[in-house]
Amino acid sequence: MIEILTPGQLARARVTGALVGEILQALKHRSAPGTNLLEIDRWAKDLILEAGATSCYVDYAPSFGRGPFGHYVCTGVNDAVLHGLPRDQELRDGDLLTLDLAVVLDGIAADAAVSFVVGEARPAESVAMIAATERALAAGIAAAGPGARIGDLSHAIGTVLGEAGYPVNTEFGGHGIGSTMHQDPHVSNTGRPGRGYRLRPGLMLALEPWVMADTDELVTDADGWTLRSATGCRTAHSEHTIMITEDGAEILSLPPSASHPAQP
Ligand code: MG
Repeated sequence: MIEILTPGQLARARVTGALVGEILQALKHRSAPGTNLLEIDRWAKDLILEAGATSCYVDYAPSFGRGPFGHYVCTGVNDAVLHGLPRDQELRDGDLLTLDLAVVLDGIAADAAVSFVVGEARPAESVAMIAATERALAAGIAAAGPGARIGDLSHAIGTVLGEAGYPVNTEFGGHGIGSTMHQDPHVSNTGRPGRGYRLRPGLMLALEPWVMADTDELVTDADGWTLRSATGCRTAHSEHTIMITEDGAEILSLPPSASHPAQP
């Protein structure tokens, strides 16, 4: 199903998106060497519930998972890239952490993910990989607007990832989003321009380029959820929820401070 939001829903989508951005930013700033992944999950739970929102993950039980996810945020460390199930693990300086969060507020969902290096270390490979997914996300957003096709976004994302030297996995990518978290159309992280669904104002999409340093193959962790790189290499993931507007695309999942920069 492809959902086109009404103007009233669009106003609410901005509120949900800003909440997701704000919570992710708070979780990122609190995460440090010594932080346990289960602590991050508790923070996420508290922030979601305090805001009166509902987690899209806690009861999420797709065919590929093992029963309901049961947690409030995905936490992927180093080789874990998608659906990272929070577990009893303390972060170390230099770990590459990916947080992915989706909530529903007032009937509208938003979904975003951020990767960053924990602590003071700045491993060059990790920094470059994160930057590539952020550039790919920006390119996908720049390609989005009324009249553009899904393939244009996929092509823009895939071109950046490919030029940065990363193989692109096509099993998991972006998606439509609206009253629920996962909807059509699928937005592959690579593709041919001019193909696929034509975007219209009111369409919400979650774009999510992600990469693994030296492989496009995933393996599933013993927890039944966490997807890791088959080679054990590091991984990164950047995601925003965007809305197609009359003249382009608006990023919904920025924290309020980022969408309204403080005056100098
Ligand atoms: Mg998503």
